Amino acid sequence: MKYFKSISLVYFFILLFIHGCLLNSNKEERKLENKKTEFEITKTDEEWKKILTPEQFHVLRKKGTEPAFTGKYYNNKKKGLYVCAGCGNELFHSDAKFDSGTGWPSFWMPVSENSVKTQSDYSYSMIRVEVLCGKCGGHLGHVFEDGPQPTGLRYCINSIALNFEEGKENPSKDTP
Ligand code: FE
Repeated sequence: MKYFKSISLVYFFILLFIHGCLLNSNKEERKLENKKTEFEITKTDEEWKKILTPEQFHVLRKKGTEPAFTGKYYNNKKKGLYVCAGCGNELFHSDAKFDSGTGWPSFWMPVSENSVKTQSDYSYSMIRVEVLCGKCGGHLGHVFEDGPQPTGLRYCINSIALNFEEGKENPSKDTP
């Protein structure tokens, strides 16, 4: 009887050990996942609400979309730089803006490779590529492959996610 008792104790500790290992590996995986979505600027919803209007918060932080032809920049033809309304990150320049006819400001490239990040978006039964601010992770819009040359891309961006700095030079060396 004593023999069986010690055997079950051994089993119990082996199981405890395996369980501990599994928990640890899950922790490591979670750490990796968090790293993938880490941005230079991170704030809680409460903090964002203090610096954004309710409409900006809805689009930038809750992935909302402003109605077409209602934003302040879709028809803006002035020269200048478009920055993130959440954090001021330089995003797009008027040099790469074009009239897509969609009712949202459209650009064929961002000012730099790191100014925006993209990720798959499967919401509303569609497969789209979401565009996020490279610094704060704010939702800007989506990118489609039906834009003009030289990139063939159309960055379809919500006006409300942007601020416009009129007359500011293009910081990108790549835009012709
Ligand atoms: Fe930002």
